[in-house]
Amino acid sequence: MVDCVRKRILVIEDERDIAELIRLHLDDLGFSVTISCDGNTGLRKASAGSWDLIILDLRLPGIDGLEICRRIRQASSSVPVLMLTSKSSELDRVVGLEIGADDYVTKPFSILELIARVKAILRRAELSRGGVAKEKGEVHVGCVAIDSTTRGATIRGEPIDLTAKEFDLLLHFATYPGRVFRRLELLDSVWGYGHEGYEHTVNSHINRLRSKIETDPAHPELIVTVWGVGYKMNAVADNRASA
Ligand code: CA
Repeated sequence: MVDCVRKRILVIEDERDIAELIRLHLDDLGFSVTISCDGNTGLRKASAGSWDLIILDLRLPGIDGLEICRRIRQASSSVPVLMLTSKSSELDRVVGLEIGADDYVTKPFSILELIARVKAILRRAELSRGGVAKEKGEVHVGCVAIDSTTRGATIRGEPIDLTAKEFDLLLHFATYPGRVFRRLELLDSVWGYGHEGYEHTVNSHINRLRSKIETDPAHPELIVTVWGVGYKMNAVADNRASA
């Protein structure tokens, strides 16, 4: 799924030129950048807002970068932090990483290097968010059990052999049992926004999924058609009755 919301980056840096240079480039890449020029406002903004990344200079007027990083982590926020350090502050760098900064860039840095680090951190954060979601583990709906960690599914304990999309579809339905989804919604959620697909893509995948999970695919009882609207998974899905 394509993220339509601009990622929000807070830059806490008292050197105006550097802050503006960072903003200029990250802005170009489609990020929404906010600048704070001292430690106190920086910490306040860091705590108040919801950020995708904080770029944090270590030497700041007011509260310094290390303290800001420490307080962010004490508030058990997992927002990624990229530290800006100077060559002479090897110790700060080590401490910074120890108190929970994700990475650092040493001044003077090239803007290309900074951007590469920013992208890498955001990518890692995205992966670990996905990881957290997957750790939620098993979803059960009636006779259907789905393990999102291993991407395996069973019906009454019998494994079902699903393609990746069939699995995604089944997981999506099972996550919201009883809820009706329009075909376009399914396209957006399972195939991703802006997917060059058509509603019949959904129909054909659902037909294939039914052929694998329904006792009688001609009379589906697990993934049912809601005429004129779309599809839903029966909240008490159990197709044993027709077996
Ligand atoms: Ca500074």
